[in-house]
Amino acid sequence: MEELILKNLTRRKLCQKLGQLCWQLSLSSILIDSLRQPAVAGKRAAIAEESTAPQADFEPAYLNLYRTGELKERAETLWQIMEDCRLCPRECGVNRLEGVRGFCGAPGATLVVSAAHPHFGEETPLVGNGGSGTIFLTHCNLRCVFCQNWQISQLGRGMESNSNKLAQMMLKLQEIGCHNINFVTPTHYAALILKALDIAAEKGLRLPIVYNTSGWERLEILKLLDGIVDIYLPDFKYWDSDMSAKYSSGAESYPEITRNAILEMHRQVGVAKPAKDGIMQRGLMIRHLVMPNNTGGSEKMMAWIAQVLPKDTYVNIMAQYSPLYKAYDYPEISRRITNDEYKKVVTRAIEVGLTNLDVQGYWWLKR
Ligand code: SF4
Repeated sequence: MEELILKNLTRRKLCQKLGQLCWQLSLSSILIDSLRQPAVAGKRAAIAEESTAPQADFEPAYLNLYRTGELKERAETLWQIMEDCRLCPRECGVNRLEGVRGFCGAPGATLVVSAAHPHFGEETPLVGNGGSGTIFLTHCNLRCVFCQNWQISQLGRGMESNSNKLAQMMLKLQEIGCHNINFVTPTHYAALILKALDIAAEKGLRLPIVYNTSGWERLEILKLLDGIVDIYLPDFKYWDSDMSAKYSSGAESYPEITRNAILEMHRQVGVAKPAKDGIMQRGLMIRHLVMPNNTGGSEKMMAWIAQVLPKDTYVNIMAQYSPLYKAYDYPEISRRITNDEYKKVVTRAIEVGLTNLDVQGYWWLKR
């Protein structure tokens, strides 16, 4: 555990600083070029030597549907769903095509992007040498009281964009050596993303698509993403609906909907297994953020994953919870987690038989 703590401290700190710089200066496209640099530590360095381009035999899932024209049709289906918006479990029913905002705050059918750049703080198999080509999308349908990106998700920090520009961003990220296109909080922009993907595929995009979501996804929408998304990267935040309702703006349905969503994601892409060079190209990668006072129901969650999914399902047990945004209004989540709280979750995950754990650490866990 201590060895992991030391290795991860360096890369997390680096990532945090780069991210802050990018957001503060709103210079994402310029940063794209300046952030190209070798990986800095641990196993990432071992990956770095061989991992600057997709494997020659790799073909992303969406290419087939692009060639048949179905990608365009799926984008159109999602677009029409915005007329009476049901893109997410809030099911607001507002007409986004006429510019109406729903709960997520997305300005109708307009896309808002906060930043796009290679990200070196994501999971090791997504980062390699070139970084994960991360596109941070503005607004959010979940609105957690402890959100670490609250300026983007809840205040709407970002710049208006469109599918053509989004396609250009993807191509640029590919050109500079990123290993994937990583859409952060994509749910409310699914239609625009697919339109952009269709444009980018025509112009030569060949990177896998990472769907980096809260996990709170409707099955009807996920089925429209089948054969398009290569890597699902869902959070699994809460086991208990009282907790999700309390801390994520009344989202009582979060645990049940997310459990079903994760099963569907697994059905589509299977267990995440890296290619020979260590880079992930396809599969399900679950993230769970351990919260203070067992707010997330972590141990039950680990048992459920082990029971319903293969034991080698990738599970990232995240330790970096920080009481940000409105978390200080809730005393039970107004601190970081303790060493014991984190260890308990990891121990439980091992006890129930999970074998593909991404275990992190930070200096404060050593107290
Ligand atoms: S995507 Fe936004 S507008 Fe559509 S249902 Fe969800 S919260 Fe409502």
